[in-house]
Amino acid sequence: MIKLAIVSPCYNEEEVLDQSAKRLTALFDELIEKDKISKDSFVLLVNDGSKDSTWSIISRLHKDNAHFKGLNLARNVGHQSAIMAGMMTAKEWSDAVITIDADLQDDLSAIEKMIDDYANGYDIIYGVKVSRKADPVLKRMSAVAFYKLQSKMGVESVYNHADFRFMSKRVLDTLAKYQEKNLYLRGLIPMLGFPSTTVDDIISERTAGSSKYTLKKMMSLALDGITSFSVKPIYGIMYLGIIFIFISILIGFYVLYALWSHTAVHGWASLMLSIWFVGGITLISVGVVGLYVGKIYKEVKGRPLYNIKDVLDKNDK
Ligand code: UDP
Ligand code: MG
Repeated sequence: MIKLAIVSPCYNEEEVLDQSAKRLTALFDELIEKDKISKDSFVLLVNDGSKDSTWSIISRLHKDNAHFKGLNLARNVGHQSAIMAGMMTAKEWSDAVITIDADLQDDLSAIEKMIDDYANGYDIIYGVKVSRKADPVLKRMSAVAFYKLQSKMGVESVYNHADFRFMSKRVLDTLAKYQEKNLYLRGLIPMLGFPSTTVDDIISERTAGSSKYTLKKMMSLALDGITSFSVKPIYGIMYLGIIFIFISILIGFYVLYALWSHTAVHGWASLMLSIWFVGGITLISVGVVGLYVGKIYKEVKGRPLYNIKDVLDKNDK
């Protein structure tokens, strides 16, 4: 029987944590009853440098409930790195890990299906959102546009899959070898190449609290999702440059013609326009190159993704 670990990143989740813990306990009871998971399966709650009482709630849950373990990060490192910290810790104590957001907006009933798929030989099982009705319209639209852009850029990822997924221990051991600092798990996991499948994930609304994903965090995840896996934007700049050289040759012919036909001078407007336009293109291009240089800078320093402050694990005592 599989010893399952559920890893959940928590950032300022004091409002929702107790409800989520209740729902997870009920799920564990059910799965243990059905002999799907072993009795020592556990939930690892990762506190991602919360400013509220999240960590004391996790400590209390750990004290009162044998299923709950805790990991306290030294500071806020963001969703992806917090999941990584949890997975790398949990894999040492379990056969497989499922990651799920602490607000449990994902479909808990999909977890049993994931375990069945694992028994049928799959190593990675992606939760795929079949209905995003609970997501705000703007979020839904931007997400779909982003998935499309990503696939145009040649990034392989699972459509409408966020970070609700099942991974076996050998997948996680392989993942541990990847030393990426610009972490985008949705792009990285499919690259590992283990047998994988999907299960439906019906998203519901948050039961309490509000979204911890600020626009800034979402934008930075989206940028990582493209620039960590595709060099097409840099190549795009080169093509843009070629197009511009071609246009400037045409303009050159026009200038010669204007000189020859004595109709020069009146071109102030077009001159101003092109200065601004080319200036803008140059800035964007330098910016995109800068994005990649910034990434190289981060990778080269090789700093750890996270630092663990405390571990709550009864087995250690
Ligand atoms: N989260 C995190 N660190 C952060 C921001 C968010 O660990 O810096 C966690 C958060 O606690 C939640 C998950 O990431 O478990 C997803 O966040 P949220 O539910 O707020 O995002 P949404 O569902 O609105 O996209
Ligand atoms: Mg959420």
